[in-house]
Amino acid sequence: MWNMLENYVDSLNPSSLARYIEKTKLIDGADPYRIMKDQWSTDDKDLPDITYPDIVNYLVTTESSYTLEDLKDYRSLQSYNYFVSGWVSDVMHCTINDRSIIIAKVQRSLNVKAAPFLPWIITESNGVIRAAHCNCITGLGETCSHVGAILFTVEAVVKVRQMASVVDESAYWLMSHNVQKIEFSKVQDINFESTETLKRKKNQNVTISPFPTVKSSNKVKVLEVAPPTEQEMAKFFRELHESNAKSAILSLIPEYCHFYGPCYLNGPLPKLLCDLYDENWTKMSKYELFDYCKKIMLSFAVTAEQADAIEKETRDHDSSKQWLIFRTGLITDSKLRAVYSDDIGQPSIYLLKSICYPKKVKPKQTNCYCNHLKLAHALYTETMKSQHQDFVIYKCGLIINPSWPFLTALPDYLTSCRCCGEGTLQLKCLCCNKPDELIDPSAVDNCFIKTENGQILLRQDHPIYYQIQAQVNISRKAYADIVVITSQFTHVERNQSNTRFWEIIIKKVIDYFRYIILPELTSKFYTRSNSKLAITDDQNKDFTGEEALLS
Ligand SMILES: [Zn+2]
Ligand SMILES: [Zn+2]
Ligand SMILES: [Zn+2]
Repeated sequence: MWNMLENYVDSLNPSSLARYIEKTKLIDGADPYRIMKDQWSTDDKDLPDITYPDIVNYLVTTESSYTLEDLKDYRSLQSYNYFVSGWVSDVMHCTINDRSIIIAKVQRSLNVKAAPFLPWIITESNGVIRAAHCNCITGLGETCSHVGAILFTVEAVVKVRQMASVVDESAYWLMSHNVQKIEFSKVQDINFESTETLKRKKNQNVTISPFPTVKSSNKVKVLEVAPPTEQEMAKFFRELHESNAKSAILSLIPEYCHFYGPCYLNGPLPKLLCDLYDENWTKMSKYELFDYCKKIMLSFAVTAEQADAIEKETRDHDSSKQWLIFRTGLITDSKLRAVYSDDIGQPSIYLLKSICYPKKVKPKQTNCYCNHLKLAHALYTETMKSQHQDFVIYKCGLIINPSWPFLTALPDYLTSCRCCGEGTLQLKCLCCNKPDELIDPSAVDNCFIKTENGQILLRQDHPIYYQIQAQVNISRKAYADIVVITSQFTHVERNQSNTRFWEIIIKKVIDYFRYIILPELTSKFYTRSNSKLAITDDQNKDFTGEEALLS
């Protein structure tokens, strides 16, 4: 179906509209998006002779981001890619005032199911390009990739047409078929050749050989094989299962599917905090909203089984999509100090955004894979194994405690031994995260340790101490171990729960969750533009240093 954008001009702002009208003056003021269907021709023979020099001329002389160097290497351009991949379709053409108007559909690169873009170009009959337009956002600049894609397509059609007139009509098969619809295909039917190869083949066809290449006849001979019997299939699946390879096909086989799939599906999931937003709440008064948040607060609960399932489901932080979903709105151990010292009357927008809209942190940024940490893990494990009975260490997901479901702890590992019971382990490398002078023991303000009765201990006002207390209290384990590596020394400390400290913290966290996090999650109370309380980000970056340290 050919859906023209009849009302397109109405969507343009005054300056874009003026420019649009200026361009259409070339064709007596006709709007290409409003030209009637029967005026368009789809016959390739009518297309103007656009040549590569015409394209270069147009793209370089029009205000655009293309440079001559880009165009020299045009095969690497996105627009050329669109053409090669067959994303240009329904090329149509008509003539007004001796000039050609060419319009086509160009599939969207990010969303193949959405309506394609409809770029158009105006050329002289000799192929000189006079104007172009596209309904994509960058198209207002007149040289977007979609316009480029049409130009390359027409140029190729013209080239093939010229060859065809030398040889015969059959040369038309050289042009690739346009991608009309993207459908699911059997793997055996998919062409896995890279765009590079496709381009090379197309170039061979279009630019080198003036004659259609002869199809190679070295077909692979397919052996006749009888389909497997049921017993054979059963044996195959059993062996696959026993190999422990976790083959995806087994998730579809009734006998084995229960070994697959997320474990939380087995039990009811707690209401996810990221689903709380509802536009209706934005119209509420502050008092109504806070009252509503109080109700959510009272009903928000996570059972022990759910907490357990979430922990297992999120063990592999880096690949677990659930990790971000579950984390949304929860106050993590590393943010505890910032939350505790934040002013509820004038909250830090940066902090609340980092809690309500967590982003995936790349491993590189957190340096969690730096060699220091690998070494620390190895040394810790070795020491524990030699000094404790039956010591084991394993990866750990998000820990939630049903008593404080709005908090979560993310220790690196869970540990256990017969002599001390179960615990958590946090590894931290400050060499890769902080400049050395900040952890110099003499730089008291930035130091995370202090000397007390000849013992070196974590400072209780330091974010690291808050984090470690969160881990031991939320996980309800017997202890929380921490290994901090600095460029000068390595600090290892075992912490038990500091109950008095924790009680004070929890009071503040409850208020913070109720008055800051919930209003934001339900109605974007602090970040929406009409909120009187909205505070700009710039005023609120004071604690970023601490957070970098704790990520
Ligand atoms: Zn465009
Ligand atoms: Zn490091
Ligand atoms: Zn032990």
